[in-house]
Amino acid sequence: MTTRVLLLGGTGEARRLAGLLTGECSGQSDLDLDLVYSLAGRVRAPEVPGSCEVRIGGFGGVRGLTAYLRTERITAVVDATHPFAAVMTASAARATAEVGVPLLVLRRPGWVEEPGDDWRRVSGLADAVTALERFPAAGYPSLAGIPSPAGSRGSPRTVGSGDAGPRVFLTTGRTDIAMFAGLRRHWFLARSVEPPEAPKPPQLTVILDRGPFDVAGETALLRRHRIDVVVTKDSGGTMTAAKLMAARDLGIPVIMIDRPPLPAGIAAVSTVEEAAVWWSRVRSDDR
Ligand code: NAP
Repeated sequence: MTTRVLLLGGTGEARRLAGLLTGECSGQSDLDLDLVYSLAGRVRAPEVPGSCEVRIGGFGGVRGLTAYLRTERITAVVDATHPFAAVMTASAARATAEVGVPLLVLRRPGWVEEPGDDWRRVSGLADAVTALERFPAAGYPSLAGIPSPAGSRGSPRTVGSGDAGPRVFLTTGRTDIAMFAGLRRHWFLARSVEPPEAPKPPQLTVILDRGPFDVAGETALLRRHRIDVVVTKDSGGTMTAAKLMAARDLGIPVIMIDRPPLPAGIAAVSTVEEAAVWWSRVRSDDR
């Protein structure tokens, strides 16, 4: 029986899983796996697995995805989107429940604070903006209203100079830069794969780059741009973790945006290997 799996991608894990599943199936004539790798279409030259069908673009919400699953006779869905792609994950949960096909969410673990780190966790982008608004023009540490972690080193730093605002390394991704457009006093260094669109903060320098990044490079970047504070989402993984080690080494605080929660009752794993095991079970149930 043909098993047709929809893999919602856009992450390194999704590409690895695609390789694993299609590689696993090659040469096994009794196993007729049909893998469709799906991307939102945000990046002009996306990295895609060479071994399966690729489709690009949104489905049209829950209704569109429900119709797609039926029309394309999808028998299982793996959501390996980015931990912050909450709309897609919610749609996948609702559409698979509606059609009655199994869904697995693959989410890499979040980052964990280590001794020497100076993180402030906030619950979303809006809270990160508020945290930056409160970031002192001079005299770190005193992030007003933001609890400082126990054991924070709090060595005195001068943030900005005169009326100049803090210098921020913003790594939340291109589409989220707009959220910070109202911060006129802050100077931003943002890094993204594609150039951001308006609205943008008035004092913005953009670096177009795609990970992985290393600690030496990140340390040099933070130093060169005299960064006072790093803002990041808790994406997890190794591709972009070096900035956190560099910030730790330099004693730079990090505003860490927490992940959105997964929909209730969803089967979830945190590694590609666990996802492959889940897939083997679904496959046996299918046969
Ligand atoms: P999102 O807010 O959850 O999704 C917005 C809409 O984009 C979805 O409702 C869906 O459109 C479409 N979409 C998202 N992922 C899709 C996929 N894999 N295939 C087809 N359509 C998809 O997601 P997002 O944060 O904009 O992220 C978009 C993509 O970029 C995801 O694939 C994610 O893995 C990747 N990405 C995101 C981040 C991040 O920080 N958010 C970082 C790196 C990579 P319809 O409602 O029309 O179906």
